[in-house]
Amino acid sequence: QAKSQGKNRYVVHTSELLDVMMDEYMLEIDLRRALEENEFVLHYQPQINNDTGKLVGFEALIRWQHPTLGLIPPGKFIKLAEENGLITQIGEWVIDEACSQNKKWHDAGMTPVKISVNLSTQQFLTGNLIPFMKDVLKRTAIDPAYVVVEITEYMAMEYNYSIQVLEQLKALGIGISIDDFGTGYSSFNYLKNFPIDYIKIDKSFVGELMNNEKDAVIVKAIITLAHNLHKEVIAEGVETKEQLNFLKNYKCDISQGYFFSKPLPAGEIEKIYLKQLRP
Ligand code: C2E
Ligand code: MG
Ligand code: MG
Ligand code: MG
Repeated sequence: QAKSQGKNRYVVHTSELLDVMMDEYMLEIDLRRALEENEFVLHYQPQINNDTGKLVGFEALIRWQHPTLGLIPPGKFIKLAEENGLITQIGEWVIDEACSQNKKWHDAGMTPVKISVNLSTQQFLTGNLIPFMKDVLKRTAIDPAYVVVEITEYMAMEYNYSIQVLEQLKALGIGISIDDFGTGYSSFNYLKNFPIDYIKIDKSFVGELMNNEKDAVIVKAIITLAHNLHKEVIAEGVETKEQLNFLKNYKCDISQGYFFSKPLPAGEIEKIYLKQLRP
């Protein structure tokens, strides 16, 4: 009796551990299948010009439509994909899909707006990003003036390599944005020398703007710095009217956040914006 109880406890304990390991393992197998079976989808979050109130762009954000687990957010699988190297293929799918979709919208008569895609570190540092970009631009026939890539401060750290890749993207006519600005390795040196068009203020600063004087000071400083370096500022994670008013007061150029809309599937975007955006 005691023995079987002990055995039971042991079994329960092991199976919990195994569950966690199996979850990760299955997720990795699933991730490979997801690429083949086209289970990834992009949701699009509107970006609004603070002066005019008009839509100026969308950020494309990946989700995984898992057959049994439902819609999985990027926070749950991007890191795993970075670890097992699948991120490059996933990232290429994202660029392709986002550019194709934006071109479709342009062709459907929407006033053209920009599409922003998030690049992964691997994609940026080791991938064949430039040839792939050239190929996508050609294949989709999207005007590169309506394509923006978002990189993080971390990717700017390989200084000589990064500047070279960014200059090549720039030469293709693509816009460049620094994402989550202020949360990583911030260096005035790259701000000065890299061909960056936009600085995105991280949502952690925007979220505390009205409650924390320090965040307010940081947001104001980022806007001033960016403008003096002739870059546009995008605030992410704008959730309230008060935050928006603050950002407008301090001349932040563009806002993105739940106050306007959460990221939506292409079909929803069309319902809301396609009519509104016909010239
Ligand atoms: P990010 O690029 O900084 O994207 C902004 C995140 O904030 C998105 O989360 C968005 O849904 C969320 N967000 C937008 N407005 C608000 C708001 O008002 N309040 C709050 N609390 N959150 C808001 P999401 O879609 O879960 O993406 C998380 C991160 O995953 C992204 O952060 C980005 O780093 C990464 N990611 C997303 N799509 C891709 C992709 O295609 N490739 C790569 N490499 N990374 C991606
Ligand atoms: Mg982003
Ligand atoms: Mg961001
Ligand atoms: Mg962020």
